[in-house]
Amino acid sequence: MTNSKHLPVIAFIDSPLQSSGKFSAEIYNNVDELLSTKNNIDLIVWTQKPIFNDVLKLRQEPRYRFLLMFYTKEPHSSSTRELMDGNPAISDWFPFWVKWSNLLSRCSTGDKILSDREILARYLWLRPNKRLSPVLDLKQPKLYAYPLAEMILGQEADTCAWLEQLLRNDLLVSQDLEDRLHLCRSCGDGHLNYVDTCPQCGAIDLENEVAIHCFACGHVEVQSAFVKDSRLSCPNCLISLRHIGVDYDRPLESLRCKTCQTFFSEGEVIARCLACGHRQQPENLRVFPVYHYFLSEQGQQLVLGRLDKQWDIHLGEEISLKHFYWQTDWCLKLAERNDAPFCLLLLRFKGLERLAEKIGESVAANLVDTLVERFRSASRPTDLVGRLNDETYLKLLPFTTIKGVTAIEKQLVSIMELIEMPGAEDIALEAYHLALPEQRFPGEDASALVARLLEFQEA
Ligand SMILES: [Zn+2]
Ligand SMILES: [Zn+2]
Ligand SMILES: [Zn+2]
Repeated sequence: MTNSKHLPVIAFIDSPLQSSGKFSAEIYNNVDELLSTKNNIDLIVWTQKPIFNDVLKLRQEPRYRFLLMFYTKEPHSSSTRELMDGNPAISDWFPFWVKWSNLLSRCSTGDKILSDREILARYLWLRPNKRLSPVLDLKQPKLYAYPLAEMILGQEADTCAWLEQLLRNDLLVSQDLEDRLHLCRSCGDGHLNYVDTCPQCGAIDLENEVAIHCFACGHVEVQSAFVKDSRLSCPNCLISLRHIGVDYDRPLESLRCKTCQTFFSEGEVIARCLACGHRQQPENLRVFPVYHYFLSEQGQQLVLGRLDKQWDIHLGEEISLKHFYWQTDWCLKLAERNDAPFCLLLLRFKGLERLAEKIGESVAANLVDTLVERFRSASRPTDLVGRLNDETYLKLLPFTTIKGVTAIEKQLVSIMELIEMPGAEDIALEAYHLALPEQRFPGEDASALVARLLEFQEA
């Protein structure tokens, strides 16, 4: 990991490039050499064209799984690109790496083995703008692969089902539709053939044929049946057909089924699954959206080791935002029916961003964690705490009136002034409150109230 006393190490595959003096460089001829080294590596740069299987091999090695991996020659496939971190200018390597390593230092550590979902969440967290993206792959039943998900689960696994589950668990957010597929209703495969069939018997062997319709007897048959001695006459009533529009016409039906001989104007389109053979009407196919995914707020909490608490929560501990909003709405309902006043309190640690630049993001985040811990010990165990982002917290104070909340605000500010920690003097605590239900506008729910608190903050 990072060691501030030593230069971070770049592993070049296979020839070195001049980089700033902020790294020390090591050269590896190929991936296997890199896999067998015991040296500590902080960043990997490919100067040869990366090959998917080689990149995958590195990513599957826990030591290299989360490292930034740049290339200088564009890889052949999008799958390879998806497992790498692009081709930034050499001057950006160090700032990118510093940002990455600050984020890494904030991940919950310990020698705990990470679950698949924790690996994915951490991988995305370390790359704040990274989306988990689909790549077209015709070998896949669903025509798209998610190389990052396959890197974690293995190529045989059902990555789509896994991603859907992570979406349902609010760890990922779907965004940016890449494609909308139609899948076989029976087996879920996307390899389909749309074919015209006979509406009568369902056969696919159809022929374009010119037919004639005799006005005298109504007989319809292919034109060749009407030709006799180079003239047209009806094979049914034997009348001779001279003038089109008077004696006969050509019906719209110009398709003939070679199996049952029926004439029709349009075949019925059937989607036949190339994987299982199931035939279905196109409107019965399963519609399947193919999305890009981002790490959700909840996913970030998982990386920071804060999510476990949701399943084993003690009074006074932080709860998820979803839970916080739900509880607030519940209190609003309760207040409508009974005299049950409560307060929402928004706390903001102002100056955190500047402090992070000054003393480092992870030190600043630790400071805030400590502050929050102190505040928690000073609050009542029945108060609920939710976190909007690193610097903004929400509190729900049950059975508290406006008089009560003002006293609590004063107390919090005085705790803040008493804290002696490096950096604490650079942070100011701001507090805003709403006393409910009297300060509620008609129709406001939890999210509207929180939005109003945030407006106070900006005003
Ligand atoms: Zn037919
Ligand atoms: Zn006829
Ligand atoms: Zn099928």
